[in-house]
Amino acid sequence: MIEFDHVHKRFGDHVVIDDLSLRVEDGEFFVLVGPSGSGKSTLLRTVNRLVHIDAGSVRIDGVDAATQAVETLRRGIGYAIQSVGLFPHRTVGENIATVPRLLGWPEHEIRARVEDLLELLKLDEPGFADRYPDTLSGGQQQRVGVARALAARPRIVLMDEPFGALDPVTRESLQTSLKAIQRDTATTILFVTHDMDEAFGLGHRVALMLDGKVAQVGTPLELIRHPVNERVREFVGGSR
Ligand code: ADP
Ligand code: MG
Repeated sequence: MIEFDHVHKRFGDHVVIDDLSLRVEDGEFFVLVGPSGSGKSTLLRTVNRLVHIDAGSVRIDGVDAATQAVETLRRGIGYAIQSVGLFPHRTVGENIATVPRLLGWPEHEIRARVEDLLELLKLDEPGFADRYPDTLSGGQQQRVGVARALAARPRIVLMDEPFGALDPVTRESLQTSLKAIQRDTATTILFVTHDMDEAFGLGHRVALMLDGKVAQVGTPLELIRHPVNERVREFVGGSR
């Protein structure tokens, strides 16, 4: 479904993605985990072409992402990031409705979808959809960011440390919701985190990235029980 094939990316002389190949299956909850600077965000952003690769290819359902119109590509892919980036002059409801509106959904469907998402993400207090981002807590803003990424039921959702700034209780509750949403909708999620526990809690499979390469890919149990080398063992064991 998403295939990275010999992907290379450099910033100046710095090789950030180093001949990386990886396949994310349809309907999979796939986590990229690794230390800061290992290239996770860069790799994620090659999928919606926020990053242009120097060599190799990224294919989605067999189609090279580089050959698609970028607007078409991005409309089919949800994207949620830690720094949220809500539109400040739009209400919560309008923020969530952004992509469905671009896609021309009828108004009643948009309203119903916004209500469903607010409920799913436990933001369903009265009047919440009419509030503006600057009246929300950081955690609430992040949840709205996640709702916006899911709104048009994209088949692929990219998430870059979307729960990074949350307190542990909120974070765990959102992880649980996201897992349920993923399971019920069979959305393909590519999720970035530097937190091994989060990776193992969420991912069907996990790829540990070190220095722009995949050090190991497998189920959480495979990584825990059979680390392929000492660095993987340290990283898997070190944070647990
Ligand atoms: P991660 O998400 O794993 O922390 P990133 O993909 O953000 O890692 O970054 C990988 C490396 O690439 C880092 O050394 C970072 O400084 C560098 N990098 C990322 N984006 C840029 C950019 N736009 N220009 C120059 N260097 C960058
Ligand atoms: Mg990052």
